[in-house]
Amino acid sequence: MVKLFNQFLNFVFPPICPICGDAVESHGSLCAKCWTGFNWISNPKCFKCGYPFPADLDLGQHPMCPHCAAGENDLDFIRSACVYDDVSKNIMLPFKHASALKYQTIMSRAMINVLRDLNLDVDIVMPVPLAWRRLFKRGYNQATLLARPIAKHFNAVLDVDSVSRKYKPDMGHKNAKQRRENVRGVFKILNPDKIRGKKILLVDDVMTSGATFYELNRILRKAGVSAVYAVSFCRVVHTI
Ligand SMILES: [Zn+2]
Ligand SMILES: [Zn+2]
Repeated sequence: MVKLFNQFLNFVFPPICPICGDAVESHGSLCAKCWTGFNWISNPKCFKCGYPFPADLDLGQHPMCPHCAAGENDLDFIRSACVYDDVSKNIMLPFKHASALKYQTIMSRAMINVLRDLNLDVDIVMPVPLAWRRLFKRGYNQATLLARPIAKHFNAVLDVDSVSRKYKPDMGHKNAKQRRENVRGVFKILNPDKIRGKKILLVDDVMTSGATFYELNRILRKAGVSAVYAVSFCRVVHTI
C-alpha cells in the first residue's frame, strides 16, 4: 500500500534534486552531480569527535585528534556529515534564514548515515535549543527540523523542552576559547527527571568550534545523563 502510494506520489510529483532540479530516483535524494560536490566526511577521522584526517594517512582503527587525545572533549561521540564549505554553505544558509525546508530530508539522511557504524543506543534526541527571542524571530528551530527524522530513525523521544537557552548577542568571528566562554551558562535544565540516566543525542545544523556541544554536555552530565552524543550536518574544519 505504501509502495503504491509512493508510486502515485512519484507520478504526480516526480522526484527532483532539491539543489539543481534534475530528475532523481526518489524524493529527498541528491543527483549524482550535486552529491559529489559535497566534501562528505569519511575515514580516516577522529574516532571520538569525527574530525577528518587526510585520506592517505593510515592511523589504525580508532585514531584520535589532538583535542580528544588531550581530554578536551567529554562527549562520547561527535559526528558531522560533511565539511562546511561553499557547497554546504549554499544549502545551510537558506535553510537557516529563509525556511528552505526542501533540504531537510537530504540533511537529516546524511546525518543518520554518518552515525550508522557507531550502532548507538539513543533514548532522547535533543535539538540544540535556540533562545526564545531567536525562535520567535525565525519562527522555527532549524535543529528541530533535522532532529525529528533522526529521532524517528532511532525510535527515540524528541525532546525540545528539557533545556532552555538564554539569549546572547551573536558571537561573530571569535576563536574557540572565546566561543567557549560566550556559551558558558546559557543553558538551563528545566526537566531533570526526564533526562536523568538517559542516553542523549544532540542535533545541530553546523558545528563551529564544538563549544555549544561541550557546554550542553557539561550541564547534561551534571543532571545525571548517562551518555551524550552529538551530530551536525556540517562542520567547520580548521587545521589542528
Ligand atoms: Zn542536483
Ligand atoms: Zn577528536
